[in-house]
Amino acid sequence: MYSPAINKLIEELRRLPTVGQHTAERFVFHWLKSGKKEVGQLALGLKNLMEKIKSCGQCWNFAETNPCFICAEKTRDQRMICVVGNVPNLAAIEQTRQFRGVYHVLRGVLDASEPESLLETKIPELRARVEKLVAAAPQQPLEIILALNPDMPGETTMLYLEQQLKAQFPGCRITRLARGLPMGSDISYADEITLGSALKGRTER
Ligand SMILES: [Zn+2]
Repeated sequence: MYSPAINKLIEELRRLPTVGQHTAERFVFHWLKSGKKEVGQLALGLKNLMEKIKSCGQCWNFAETNPCFICAEKTRDQRMICVVGNVPNLAAIEQTRQFRGVYHVLRGVLDASEPESLLETKIPELRARVEKLVAAAPQQPLEIILALNPDMPGETTMLYLEQQLKAQFPGCRITRLARGLPMGSDISYADEITLGSALKGRTER
């Protein structure tokens, strides 16, 4: 019912999370009304995103440098790794200013019904990273903090990681955020005080 260029863009927008037909239509007609300047800024923003943002080869954060600005900070403890599901969760933990270690962004969580979901996460990279740290200094303390969202996929992933890491690296300390974040919630939306105290009160597994 729309012209082909409009239909094509609606189709592209519908691939975005939470965007359905109506929202996609609203975006497209908003841009047509707002004119070239606003659309140009948006196109430039997307172009910059693709050209400037890289993956950090150590923690899988998205940043303009590799290693990212967090991994590159000299004062951080490289042997204290906080494992998160995605970059907004990393940002929420940074916001608390309670953590002086480094991160590992899994970029996904395990889906119990899909065994191949393991390979879509950065879990193999986490194991390789821990293995290297253990080999470099077997006697030095090493802590992995599991800070995935307190929901079903997050729990499944943390349980898997706990079992795997404990078996492979018995000397490594594995901890979890203290209870206090409501079940089913997203770390990205937790308030700084609750998240900060969950981090401080983390418990040994
Ligand atoms: Zn990094």
